Amino acid sequence: MKFYETASLGFILLFVNSEILVSACGCESDSASKPTDGPAPGAISAANYFKEKFGGRTEIYNNRNVRGGKSLSLHAEGRAVDLYVSGETGKKAFDHAVTIACNSGIQEVIFNRRIWTQSGSERHYGGKHPHDDHVHIGLNKCGAQHFTQE
Ligand SMILES: [Zn+2]
Repeated sequence: MKFYETASLGFILLFVNSEILVSACGCESDSASKPTDGPAPGAISAANYFKEKFGGRTEIYNNRNVRGGKSLSLHAEGRAVDLYVSGETGKKAFDHAVTIACNSGIQEVIFNRRIWTQSGSERHYGGKHPHDDHVHIGLNKCGAQHFTQE
């Protein structure tokens, strides 16, 4: 919860170190509404970050709906990363993404029939795809532009 700690230090820190203003995306969720034509810069940063930390390959942009659903996937706005790792590594990546979520601009994480969201914390994921071969990491609009690592 670095975001709140930083905010509670007040205006002086926020003004003297403007980097802090763009590094904390906060606990926001933005649904996807309009496809873009490629991956967002923050998603590329997030993909590189998770790939370096946990291995596996990554996929970002895909103009499609949520698997088995009617709503637009965050992948269609280029702001979701699929990290292809499984088992223990997948669980570690899931937990790490949840830990850094509010500061980094991560709004949803899915792995192995579990989903974490900003609004509903962690619970069973009943979607069509079990997500047992990859971790889905969705970014809010701030994270899609300014993903930060911790
Ligand atoms: Zn995904």
